[in-house]
Amino acid sequence: MYNFEVERIAEIIKREGYSRVSLQFPEGLRDHATEVASQVEELTGAEVLISANPCYGACDLADEPAAQLGAEAVFHFGHAQLLKSTRIPVHYIEVRLPQEAEPLLEEHLHLLEKRVGLITTVQHVHILERARRFLEARGFEVHIGGARGRARYPGQVLGCSFACAKSISSRVDCFAYLGSGDFHPLGVALATGKPVYAFDLLQGEVRNMEEKRERFLRQRFATMAKARDAQRFGIIVGEKPGQRRLALARRIKQKLREMKKEAHLIHLAEVTPENLIYFRHLDALVNTSCPRVTIEDAPRFPRPMLTPQELEIVLGERKWEDYVLDELD
Ligand code: SF4
Repeated sequence: MYNFEVERIAEIIKREGYSRVSLQFPEGLRDHATEVASQVEELTGAEVLISANPCYGACDLADEPAAQLGAEAVFHFGHAQLLKSTRIPVHYIEVRLPQEAEPLLEEHLHLLEKRVGLITTVQHVHILERARRFLEARGFEVHIGGARGRARYPGQVLGCSFACAKSISSRVDCFAYLGSGDFHPLGVALATGKPVYAFDLLQGEVRNMEEKRERFLRQRFATMAKARDAQRFGIIVGEKPGQRRLALARRIKQKLREMKKEAHLIHLAEVTPENLIYFRHLDALVNTSCPRVTIEDAPRFPRPMLTPQELEIVLGERKWEDYVLDELD
């Protein structure tokens, strides 16, 4: 099902004269790493290293450790380019998926209202224009937002960037997300307040995000309620290149201290309960690194973990009705 573009990789290696490269896969694709490495070695004769550190986005590149091991380039799989400067060249293999959206759209046209916004992730950006023509031929008015925020392609959203959907929100009645999983369509539902239907091209089913949005907001409300009396805060600063927001973390620390609360800056690469286990005396955490961790992994943390905007609600600076997701520039 996956196209790892091994021949293109081989062409790049030969063209650039690389003798040692590193391959970096997100966890969902890592099962294929050794197979791809063997093929690349066979086609090029270059030495291939495989990065096994966790990787969830193009905000998190293996260029620095790979360079330290003598690699001349990194091939990063499964994401589009996000960072501009890297220690050694990084080549992006986006791993587009072949599924078509038309059969699922046809079956569920009755869900959609007249003006539809199409959104997706990088794995499916190539099918958006075809889906647009399909819907327009059936009388819908279709909008696809331009590449904005962290997105590199029209219609693309990331777990930390919904700017593309927000840019067309006022012109659509609902969104159709073409892809897989719930995190991105849920994010669009929260960021726009519009009905969002997740057309799951891998599962072959459609899910309305409304119920999940309600459940999500109830959970976050409960988390914020737990943090209301917190006196001792840890403010997390991500170490990964595309997750570092030290200036924001400093502003939060200063604000909390002005309110006579204890506040500490804690930096780490992997924001996990295990890595934070010895901060038992803290009452609450504020995460300025990947917002997806705050949202998806929150139940795993033994103390409330808030986004910067949720902290504003807890401190009475923002109204609950103005709840927004955390997004990165
Ligand atoms: S910050 Fe998080 S959501 Fe954004 S690209 Fe990185 S891993 Fe994905």
